[in-house]
Amino acid sequence: MYQVLARKYRPQTFAELVSQEHVRTTLENAIRQNRTAHGYIFSGQRGTGKTSVARILARCLNCVEGPTVTPCGVCSSCTETAAGNAPDVIEIDAASNRGINEMRELRENVRYRPARDRYKVFIIDEAHQITSEAFNALLKTLEEPPEWVIFVLCTTEAHKIPPTIASRCQHFSFRSVEFEEIVARLKYICEQEGIQADAEALAVLAQAGEGSIRDSLSALDQAIACCGTELRGPEVRALLGILSLDALEQVTVALAASDSNRMLDLVAELERNGHNMQHFCRELAGYFRNLLVAKIAGPETRLIAASPGERRRLAEIAAGFSEEDLTRYLHLTLELYGDLQRSTQPRLHTELGLLRMVQAGRLVAIEEALAAIGNTAAHKPQTHPSAAPPAAAKAETGDWKARLYGAFKELGMMFSADAIERCTIEEKAGGLAIIAHTDDRLALTEACIKRALQHLDAAGVKFQVKFTEAATGGKSDGTAQVQDELTERALSHPEVRKFREILGGEVRSVRDLKE
Ligand SMILES: [Zn+2]
Repeated sequence: MYQVLARKYRPQTFAELVSQEHVRTTLENAIRQNRTAHGYIFSGQRGTGKTSVARILARCLNCVEGPTVTPCGVCSSCTETAAGNAPDVIEIDAASNRGINEMRELRENVRYRPARDRYKVFIIDEAHQITSEAFNALLKTLEEPPEWVIFVLCTTEAHKIPPTIASRCQHFSFRSVEFEEIVARLKYICEQEGIQADAEALAVLAQAGEGSIRDSLSALDQAIACCGTELRGPEVRALLGILSLDALEQVTVALAASDSNRMLDLVAELERNGHNMQHFCRELAGYFRNLLVAKIAGPETRLIAASPGERRRLAEIAAGFSEEDLTRYLHLTLELYGDLQRSTQPRLHTELGLLRMVQAGRLVAIEEALAAIGNTAAHKPQTHPSAAPPAAAKAETGDWKARLYGAFKELGMMFSADAIERCTIEEKAGGLAIIAHTDDRLALTEACIKRALQHLDAAGVKFQVKFTEAATGGKSDGTAQVQDELTERALSHPEVRKFREILGGEVRSVRDLKE
């Protein structure tokens, strides 16, 4: 009879355990020093070895040569525990109906000494599903545990274990198994089984498990059943419905080019090839997640479950997008995934979702444009160091205006920044003469201007502020001239110039907001 690989290669000793070194070391020490606890909580993602470790612990404690960290593996206790039918190792699935009954009998059961072995080990799977009634029974037992009783509560959701129970247990969290470790394990098992698998096939199988060895091994079972003893990457990929990096890259290519048409082709192609849209979306979310991680942590990161070559490629692709872009795309993909779960028209929703992403990419252009405008104002002081010899007097005047404006903006003094824009600055031998409208007197007090000058490292510059009713400079010299001057000033303003450069378009009229 064919035995599934996950069971056949279930680790029987601590030495065979893949990863989880921290759990292993602590438990080994406890066994050596005869300090095992009566209650353990093993928490972690599925397929990370929680029940395997629980069984290994039972073997270590109950082996005829034990308690030992190297159980003999041949005594009846060892073999029966491995097979799951040892009289004193009781496995309960708390989620099943039978489990609920077994939990009910627990208090009775713990009272009796072990039938044959040293300890009675209760391994409770899905322990977060234990009913509150059963938790009470468990609590009573843990408060005064008989010396022969050991509980191991295995759960994917440790936070659902009541604190009264948790505080009486030793807690181990099992980390999800790393990509390389799973690949190595798969490789070892393939060698043992006489299966030839190429590197890509192993990587695909490891990815399919998403950190769970058991899931990766059932994928391997499936691959062997379908493809025989020779496993090649593309076939395994097709079998498991895992999209290649190439296919997912099509999405980022279309995004980079803002090419809606290409997106629609892509969806059509997916449907032609019989891809499930929800599955595609899940893969896409994983892809954007990996791009984001590659962008933030670089290609060497261990946070991406992929081969070094693929990680490098992800980092290359990610370099073409900003962190904000990728976050936005990931967000939109997750939204799309949510929509697809309720959708009766998956293709339509996928198209809509992907087009939304293209549009989101276009939005960035405006954001960046605005950021670029902000930068010109903010960086102006650096591009015109004050030590530089004055060019034309007019340019210098404009320069002080821009510099003070930039300083106020950086200081967050927006009223002063606006006021400085409206005023006239003349540079004279004795310093700056600032002529402003009386309305701006609170925004341009001496203290305000001093602060801005200090910010510009120009605290020594002398200045004088004059407020007049007649707005700035020559404003009272006739409306037409004022309007021309206003228009010219507005159009020559660096922000306005930049805006027109980036966004195009014409300025139809200029209006003074104070009028
Ligand atoms: Zn033994």
